[in-house]
Formats: sequence, C-alpha cells, structure tokens
Amino acid sequence: MSPVVRFHSTNHQDMDKSLAHALLNGQAADKGLFMPEPIPSFDRRELVRLSQISYPELAYEVLSRYVDDEFTNEELLGLCHSAYDYPVPLERVTGRRHVMRLDQGPTASFKDFAARMMGRMLGRLVKPGEPPLVILTATSGDTGSAVAQAFAGVDNIAVVVLFPVDEVSDRQRKQMTTIGGNVRTIGVQGKFDDCQAMVKRAFTDPVVGGIRLSSANSINIGRLLPQSVYYMHAYLRLAKVTEGERMIISVPCGNFGNLCGGLFAQRGGLPVERFVVATNANDEVPIFFDTAAYNKIEPSRTCISNAMNVGHPSNLARLVGLYGGHLDEVGILHKAPDMEAIRRDMWSTSVSDAETRACIARTWKDHGVMLEPHGAVGWAGLERYFEAGLADKDAVAVSLETAHPAKFPDEIISLTGIDPAVPPSLARIEQLTEEYPTIGVDYELFRTMLQDWHGV
Ligand SMILES: *Cc1c(COP(=O)(O)O)cnc(C)c1O
Repeated sequence: MSPVVRFHSTNHQDMDKSLAHALLNGQAADKGLFMPEPIPSFDRRELVRLSQISYPELAYEVLSRYVDDEFTNEELLGLCHSAYDYPVPLERVTGRRHVMRLDQGPTASFKDFAARMMGRMLGRLVKPGEPPLVILTATSGDTGSAVAQAFAGVDNIAVVVLFPVDEVSDRQRKQMTTIGGNVRTIGVQGKFDDCQAMVKRAFTDPVVGGIRLSSANSINIGRLLPQSVYYMHAYLRLAKVTEGERMIISVPCGNFGNLCGGLFAQRGGLPVERFVVATNANDEVPIFFDTAAYNKIEPSRTCISNAMNVGHPSNLARLVGLYGGHLDEVGILHKAPDMEAIRRDMWSTSVSDAETRACIARTWKDHGVMLEPHGAVGWAGLERYFEAGLADKDAVAVSLETAHPAKFPDEIISLTGIDPAVPPSLARIEQLTEEYPTIGVDYELFRTMLQDWHGV
C-alpha cells in the first residue's frame, strides 16, 4: 500500500488536506495553491508493466495513487474510461523526435484532459440531495468551452460561463452555447476583464452566499493531476522502458499547469532527461531561470499563441515550491528555490511570433507535420535545444501539441497553403442551435439570473 497523499498550500498555512477538500475548494484558505505530498512514485518494474495498458487504464493507475477514500476503484476506473474515450496519438517528426497530439478531445485542446477528469471527480463529490455545485467561469474563449464541455451532463454540477460577446470566435462561442442542460452561458457586452470582475464579485457577494460556488481554472489541483498521465503515456510508448532510457520533453507554457503535471510525473520516477520549457514572448520564466530574479510582465504581451499570453503564471508558485522556494500569489519571491536543481531538470527558452510562424511553415514543408501556434512554440524550443548541442542527436524526445490546427485556420492557411480539416467534434457543433442571453456589464442583473437559476 502506498502512503495516503495529503495536500498542503504553497503558502504553508493551510496544511494536510484531503483530495476532496482540495478539489472542492480550488484555492487554499491562505491564497496559496495545493500541492500533493508525497508524490506517488513508480519504479522501473512498474513502468514496464504500465507500458502494456491502455490510456484510460494508465490514467486510473496514476490517479488511484492520489485518491484516498473519495472514490472506489471501480468508480475511478469508470471515470477514466468515460473521460478518455479519444486517442492520444504520437506522431514521428524526424529521427526519434515526436509530437504528442493532445488535441483529439471534444474541444480540440489539451485542456480537455484536465477539465473532463476534474468535472467527473467533482460531480461524484457532491452528494445527491445536496444543492448543486455551481462552477462559475469567465472566459476569453478556450477555458470556457473546455469547462462547459467537461461538465456537460455531470450530475450535481451546474456551469455558468460569462464571455465577452465580441471577443470570442464563432467556433469558440458555439462550443459553449449549444450544450444546454446544466450548462448556461451569458454573453456580456464588454471585455474579458468585465466578465472576470463580475465572477470575482459573485464569489465574495454575501447575497450569492447561499449558492455553492466553485471555479475551474488551473489553480485547482484537480486539473493538474490528470495532466501527469500523458507524460507517462509518451514515455512508455516511445522510450526504451526496460533500459530506463531518459527522455527529453518540450512543453509550450502559459500558466505552467501543464508543466507541473510533467514535474509531478518526473518526481514520481519517470525518467525525464530534461523539460524544454518553451514560452512565447512572455519570457518572465526563461529570464527567471537564467538570473534567479522574478519579474512578472504587466500587461502580458499579445502573441499568436494566445492561450499562452501570461505575464505572471499562477502555477509558477507550485514549481518554485517543488524546488524548495516560496513564491506568493502576487509574485513576490520570499524564498529562492534550488536554482541548480531547476536548471538540471529544465531548460527554458522564449520563441517569438516570427519564429513560431517560421516553425509552422518549415515543419510542414520539411516533414509534412502540421503544427499550430502553441505546439510550434514547443517544437521550436525542442529544435533549439538540440541545435545548442545539449542532447545527443539520437536522444528520444517529444513535444506537446496542445491545440488542433483547425482552431487557427487563417494562420495555418497563410503559412502552409492548407486549410486544416475540421475534426468531427468541432464540425458537429456547427449544426447545433445556440442559446444564451446577452447582458450589459450589469452585475445586479447577473446576480438576479444566478439567483433565479440556482438560488435556494
Ligand atoms: C492553456 C493552453 C496552453 C498553456 O498551458 P498552461 O498549462 O497554462 O501552461 C498552451 N496551449 C494551449 C492551446 C492552451 O489552451
């Protein structure tokens, strides 16, 4: 029996909590982020065994080590099968270098991996007969659709998404507004920041207090744990597992949740030679790794890999905590992490939009492999790592592709001349009917709607 995993805050005030507590609360009471301890580990013999099983079974093997008595084994295995009913392809680009396509889920973004599992877990934690848990989210596009799709039809959970009507693409909007059932969407005639402000106000509004509210952004540990599974999947399928071969993994980073999943896997014994930590022009982390000085970028820089336009990544506090340091929620570094260990495990680089575009064009022309802006940041980072002579040219490597090229048709057509085929999950949505009210930036009205829908 492995020891029971408990959760503590990166701010070290809120300690020793259960997974259920961490999932239901999202953020720790001291405004820090929950971290698992100990991180479950796998030795080489276990890795060899795990290399024989399917993705949902692998997810079960990993997640079951984090679970105490929240779910039975049968329940958890069922959740894994229903959450991961789509393929996770590994595509060879050249030599032993690959991309892992995490874009085959219902919203064609890697956020499906995290959101679908978290949705299912939360749905089980709210007992029948209790008032439903209302997940309140403001979105600029991708998060809202992944969350809305993930929670669609989940018992005991309702979702309310606010989005800026004029700032999301038609496709993004349809992914949220065509679901119905337990998912409600409200178009706001304002900006993303207005939506976010209304959501934040609701969380602290005593009048709304009777409604059980929660959020689903990547501060919730429930989104990170499922993300360590695909790192293991890539390793088990591509590396020489029996020899304990070490692998290079490139991760395009924004809020650094994805990378944290990888770091958990590595701490748990996955033989990762190094993570290439690739960012767009928001280069606060590459600079931090170089200089040990952390300065957030405000406002964040606008790049074509728009889901990575983050100038102060919320999950950086987790990374720093994992290496013995303390970074608080506003970005003040109270205790330096072990920079030497960070540099041994990670190599960080910033990729400009021009280089991202060149990478998409080149990878298509030279290898017939289609990337989109986020994945191209990862791939360009990996190419740089090899060009810098940091790895043997025959080393096994994978770069994560986090979205489907069809989500960025204009950019892809202009760089490759190809109109990427729309995956069935996105195409299906085009036919469905949308349903959503539109309101002004009017908090009182929003509150009335919340109370009408979910008030007790
Ligand atoms: C959210 C997102 C990212 C960034 O992931 P983090 O976990 O925030 O680092 C990268 N690519 C795409 C397509 C995303 O939606």
